[in-house]
Amino acid sequence: MKDKVAQLTASRKQLRQQMPDLSTILPGSLLSRMVRCNKPGCRFCEKGKGKGHGPIWILSVNLGNRQVRQIPVPNELRKEVEESLRAFAQTQKILKQIAQLNLELFKERKHQRP
Ligand SMILES: [Zn+2]
Repeated sequence: MKDKVAQLTASRKQLRQQMPDLSTILPGSLLSRMVRCNKPGCRFCEKGKGKGHGPIWILSVNLGNRQVRQIPVPNELRKEVEESLRAFAQTQKILKQIAQLNLELFKERKHQRP
């Protein structure tokens, strides 16, 4: 089945072209939360009524060993961080797909041996 090899190789090439710019990738996920200032009389933080201030944005990164690092993200960097997180997720997805394709290719090539 030479066709299958050609097909798998073409799919792999296509996946490689979908690979994001690796120099931008960031791990983690972006969270938002409201914060309370605890200033007396603040109408945003009024007990039971106010929603607090914000939202503020936080980059949450899992460091392993149940350790999570939370890094505040300034508003003007939020979009960039979001894109970098997407690039990382996309990279991981494509890596898995290419690895899977290569596994198929390996099996095909084994079967094709004389
Ligand atoms: Zn407040």
